[in-house]
Amino acid sequence: MNTAMNNGGWLISGARPLGGDAADVLVRDGRIEQIGRGLDQAGAQRLDASGLILLPGLVDLHAHLREPGREDAETVATGTAAAALGGFTAVHAMANTDPVADTAGVVEQIWRLGRQAGRCDVRPVGAVTAGLAGRQLAELGAMADSAARVRVFSDDGRCVHDAVLMRRALEYVRAFDGVIAQHAQEPRLTDGAQVNEGEISGRLGLAGWPAVAEEAVIARDCLLAAHVGSALHVCHVSTAGSVEIIRWAKGKGWQVTAEVTPHHLLLTEERAARYDPLFKVNPPLRTSEDVAALRAGLADGTIDCVATDHAPHSLEDKETEWQAAAFGMTGLETALRVVQEAMIEPGLLDWAGVADRMSARPAAIGRLAGHGRLAPGGPANLVLYDPSPREVVDPGQHASRSRNTPFAGMVLPGRVMATFLRGQPTVLDGKLTS
Ligand SMILES: [Zn+2]
Repeated sequence: MNTAMNNGGWLISGARPLGGDAADVLVRDGRIEQIGRGLDQAGAQRLDASGLILLPGLVDLHAHLREPGREDAETVATGTAAAALGGFTAVHAMANTDPVADTAGVVEQIWRLGRQAGRCDVRPVGAVTAGLAGRQLAELGAMADSAARVRVFSDDGRCVHDAVLMRRALEYVRAFDGVIAQHAQEPRLTDGAQVNEGEISGRLGLAGWPAVAEEAVIARDCLLAAHVGSALHVCHVSTAGSVEIIRWAKGKGWQVTAEVTPHHLLLTEERAARYDPLFKVNPPLRTSEDVAALRAGLADGTIDCVATDHAPHSLEDKETEWQAAAFGMTGLETALRVVQEAMIEPGLLDWAGVADRMSARPAAIGRLAGHGRLAPGGPANLVLYDPSPREVVDPGQHASRSRNTPFAGMVLPGRVMATFLRGQPTVLDGKLTS
């Protein structure tokens, strides 16, 4: 990136911080120097942001960047380009790579790839169990002490279903204020499962994925987290019952947090009815009642945050018959637009709420400093967003190496206009800067 262009900093004029009244923002030396009206600064680059919403850079707790091992589907470089275009300044990279991110060496490799790409802070998530095999704990302490300073651990893609291992993991991470992020899926109840269990699974003749397979694990893990006094984070909550259990656990004062994906906030199991594997995802799309409960849970804070579960897959893995197709959808480049459609448009959240659920809270859960706030003196991690256009989602324009977005062809509101990482623009005028 051309650093010379930033010597005098940036004067962003007329943006609406958190959707409020218009203000100017002066960015210098990587920090927000001032937010106010009528600011000026000789030598600063000017950016007219009239009418744009200004949010703290978005933070994703859950993305699959596929490197090392599946660079045909995504790399740290392409995944962080997608993240920047989506308004993200920090992304947590899940551990189910090849090799698995279960040692200090692998998490440091991923962390370094993120630094090289430079578009977004990459925080590796460490595996809970060695090789994601569910038999013995991975080197949690070594990953925490590594240069990558791992604080979030997950076997995501698989559930840590052994209660003793889950207990030990929760106990272990207390020493360094870590958190275990659980992919809640009871394996026996979901053996061969393809779609939400119910009327649709019966009609399609596909094995059903019952809500209880998620809810039973969440209930058990909330009780375990309370028992050992440790922090549990629940990945991609997908059912109304899960929201109720998490609400109950939070009511007890237990250290339980949770995330919901954009796709579970907008799409229902009806999308699966044409056997299009673009809509095949783990956990599966659920009913409209579940979607309503997830939105209500996100609105009232029972669900802390939105996390993309960005899961790029190659065409060969996705464009095949339903049973053989991989689970997962891309999401980094559409997340904010989907949240506008699902939460802002119906009046369930305002922009301050979106900043909380997509930046401040995920940063707090990830123990990530320097993100999540719009504050003078703090790092200038910012996104400028135009909520007014409504445009068709075109995966051909995406920077992700994969094209498996379920929103392809749909009309969604909004456009990310600019993203700044520590005062450096990674996206300007809706395009990558380098
Ligand atoms: Zn998962």
